Amino acid sequence: MNFELTEELQDIKKLARDFAVKEIQPTVDFDDKAHRFRRDLVKKMGDLGFFGCVVPEKYGGNEMGFLAITLIAEEIARVHSSMRLPFNMNALGPARTILKFGSEELKQKYIPGLVSADLLGAFAITEADTGSDVASMKTRAVLDGDHYVVNGSKMWISNAPVADMALLYAITEPGKGAKGMSAFVLDCKLPGVTVEAITEKLGTWSAPVGAMTFENVRLPKENLLGKEGDGFKICMSQLDDTRMGCAAGALGVAQACIDAVLQYSNERQQFGQPIGKFQMIQDMIAQMIVETEGARMLVYRAATLKDKDVPNTLETSMGKYSAAEAANKCADYAMKIYGSYGYSEEYPVARFYRDAKSYQIVEGTSNIQKIIISNDALGYRKANR
Ligand SMILES: Cc1cc2nc3c(=O)[nH]c(=O)nc-3n(C[C@H](O)[C@H](O)[C@H](O)COP(=O)(O)OP(=O)(O)OC[C@H]3O[C@@H](n4cnc5c(N)ncnc54)[C@H](O)[C@@H]3O)c2cc1C
Repeated sequence: MNFELTEELQDIKKLARDFAVKEIQPTVDFDDKAHRFRRDLVKKMGDLGFFGCVVPEKYGGNEMGFLAITLIAEEIARVHSSMRLPFNMNALGPARTILKFGSEELKQKYIPGLVSADLLGAFAITEADTGSDVASMKTRAVLDGDHYVVNGSKMWISNAPVADMALLYAITEPGKGAKGMSAFVLDCKLPGVTVEAITEKLGTWSAPVGAMTFENVRLPKENLLGKEGDGFKICMSQLDDTRMGCAAGALGVAQACIDAVLQYSNERQQFGQPIGKFQMIQDMIAQMIVETEGARMLVYRAATLKDKDVPNTLETSMGKYSAAEAANKCADYAMKIYGSYGYSEEYPVARFYRDAKSYQIVEGTSNIQKIIISNDALGYRKANR
């Protein structure tokens, strides 16, 4: 077991940290309050190779690996949680999934653009009546000559208002449950695709989200990933990878809370001394640090397993669950430590509190992660198959 990052990984982490502090930090409050999506900064991250870590050089990537992209996404989220979304929407979601399951033609058409961020991606699983129970989705794709005709709608799709392409999951054979699901690459500009932005949400205000509707959308047959009926398997594989991006983001938010309380606890004076001198404040700080550090070990372990290309669904779920819970505990404690200033918009703690919540929901709720972990332990369903 090696708990040290290699020199190369330390350099990558520093590069990401410097970028976040120099490019994102100066306008983070303005961007967040204006609900401003920073397309320009996403492009800059693409130019720096941030989205190429898990992609071969042949398709524009740099093959630095899962641990590298985890470190980068964590550092970006430490400054602005909204800005870690593109790691999933471009790299760990679409690029990685097309790489695993797409034809050579699809790989060449989409992956380089997703890596450079000339293209923006998304993945569309959730529907109004279909969340955790993915296989109950209703969106239909019916083969008609050399096209699939798609009808239906998706909800809560990150990047939908800005995306050029999306992974789309739909039912090709109704009545067969998970085995009737297929995965496609969707060009979001196709006739019949409409998007409505979801503008009122609790947090991640600079990350656009929307509902997508498909009305007789004609998708070329070649845009099918794998074969018909592979959709559920592909979706689970995609979630396994995108969960890593969420876990990294949650670690970033947890660390941002720790950074903030360490500074504030030394500055804020009550009863004639810094509040950091009070044992009840120290208790909260110690819990924040230990739970974040524990989650970090689990997340990095899962990323390392991914880099070794060995089964890691169980470890990824543990990492995602622990990081999401750590982020929420840290945000809760940071709010307590800041008191009324935490509740105000003068400090970033209110933003951390809002942004932390999404990590317990997206890419499988905390309950879903606990189901995976406990079913594995009980022997009901092994996670790493
Ligand atoms: C900001 C944001 C961005 C998102 N981005 C995307 C995206 O890009 N693409 C996409 O496809 N989706 C996206 N989603 C949707 C997200 O993945 C779903 O919200 C999530 O999967 C949970 O589904 P649900 O909200 O319908 O909750 P439900 O599945 O209805 O669950 C409601 C509650 O019941 C619990 N529950 C459900 N089933 C069980 C069970 N078997 N055992 C115990 N408890 C259970 C859940 O844990 C939860 O607490 C996004 C959501 C948000 C909020």
